[in-house]
Amino acid sequence: MEVKKMYIDGEWVASRSGKTRDCINPANGEVIATVTEGDISDARIAVAAAKRSFYETREWRDMDSQSRGDMLLKIADAMEEVKDELAHIDTVDMGKPLRESECDVDDAIHTFRYYASLIKAPYGGVYDVNEGFGKMHSYTVHEPVGVCALVTPWNYPLLMGVWKLAPSLAAGNSIIYKPSSNCVLSSIRLFEIFEKVGMPKGVCNLVLGAGSTVGEELARNLDVDMITFTGSTEVGQSIMKAAAGNVKKIGLELGGKSPNIIFADADIDGAVEWAMIGIFLNQGEICSAGSRIIIDKEIKDTFVRKLKQRAEAITIGDPLDNPDMGALVSESHMKRVLSYIQKGVDEGATLVTGGERYTEGDCAKGFFVRPTIFDNCTDEMTIVKEEIFGPVVTVQTFSSEEEAVRMANNTIYGLAGAVFTADGARALRVIKELRAGITWINCYNPCFNEAPWGGYKRSGIGRELGIHGLEEYQEIKQININLQPGTVGWYTH
Ligand code: NDP
Repeated sequence: MEVKKMYIDGEWVASRSGKTRDCINPANGEVIATVTEGDISDARIAVAAAKRSFYETREWRDMDSQSRGDMLLKIADAMEEVKDELAHIDTVDMGKPLRESECDVDDAIHTFRYYASLIKAPYGGVYDVNEGFGKMHSYTVHEPVGVCALVTPWNYPLLMGVWKLAPSLAAGNSIIYKPSSNCVLSSIRLFEIFEKVGMPKGVCNLVLGAGSTVGEELARNLDVDMITFTGSTEVGQSIMKAAAGNVKKIGLELGGKSPNIIFADADIDGAVEWAMIGIFLNQGEICSAGSRIIIDKEIKDTFVRKLKQRAEAITIGDPLDNPDMGALVSESHMKRVLSYIQKGVDEGATLVTGGERYTEGDCAKGFFVRPTIFDNCTDEMTIVKEEIFGPVVTVQTFSSEEEAVRMANNTIYGLAGAVFTADGARALRVIKELRAGITWINCYNPCFNEAPWGGYKRSGIGRELGIHGLEEYQEIKQININLQPGTVGWYTH
């Protein structure tokens, strides 16, 4: 099998060490590709290339925004031509149903188009600063940060990368991208597109390799001006420490344990459907998953009965056949999810349904877990406190609005949350109290390129998507002009 390479300084290269890594289809355990495995020295070469392209060659950085936007549109068009292939790659590499990968690819294409247009929008400000300094004019411009390292997880292999690649490139930066070693194949295909459309040499670098080597080096390297990371809170914390050496600009999209609050007056069937999307979409491997259902005790039994029925009707199977739910990303992740389920049982939660590996038919060769619901949960339980990142939801009850809010906020995370109620004033009151960055009323999980995405507390720093997602990759420069050259401000007064 041909070993797939990484893309550094405009060339497809093997790692200096010659090491490789097999890519496994989690639906059947088969090797689908072998890729080169970079390490610290490869990361350093990529950083040097990005640095040269930003500070010396300057072709991308100095390109007018119209031309830069046009290049992003070319990338989007080229992705459109191979969208079926990209979706197929993510499904066999990561395990999600093909239909969901197709949505991800459409979203990724839209993200490039969105930032292609946003880069031409007006930005900056003009300030009234005359007091005490004579006639002055002050305004701001936005400039690229410089050399940006982008590190992503495996749960949306193409899309998580594009959420960072599109705005960072739109802003004129040079980048080094390190995707999760679990799922690198759609990133390789995307960089083939970058090459095909003619991105200038050294601007986009793809380094494959482990987080503990390549990722850590990118966080530590003094020539990297910014690191932006999506992944677990623990790794985010270690990146913050490593980035301190040159006080890098930092962006962190981290984990979550998000509350889904359901009041007695909510449309129960609607709430059940959204709760399903909240926790079982993408096998529950979603940072914003509604993994804690917090429900009025009056309707809990009815709700849990309906949710159980719907969860048990979920089809599981080969992700290419478009079941409702596919495979978890890897054997080790499946084992981690199953060990959380065991902890839930051990700590006294009531297992309503699921709770085990799914092994029917050909699925025995893959890493599937049944949709799992735990009832009678309490704040102290591990499955309520820790992010499981799988198809596992806990149910807790409340007797008052205050209690619901207290339980919802009783977490170290603050990524997302939702409230279901027919009472508009209550919905707004409760949402306002939630310490979380992404919230929904009477729905769960819709996500839009135009709106900022990110968390409070240990769920991260900064925002992706929208205008905020572009500004993350920009520095703001203040420019002050003396309109009366020859005058020297207040010392002469
Ligand atoms: P990890 O934090 O384990 O890894 C994420 C990325 O960081 C991978 O590319 C990994 O490399 C790399 N990495 C690992 N260690 C280091 C290090 N010391 N320095 C730099 N980089 C490192 O997360 P997972 O990939 O397991 O993804 C799941 C997590 O991501 C969940 O906690 C989830 O909540 C979070 N997430 C958050 C999102 C958000 O928007 N807030 C979106 C999606 C996921 P490698 O794996 O190749 O070794």
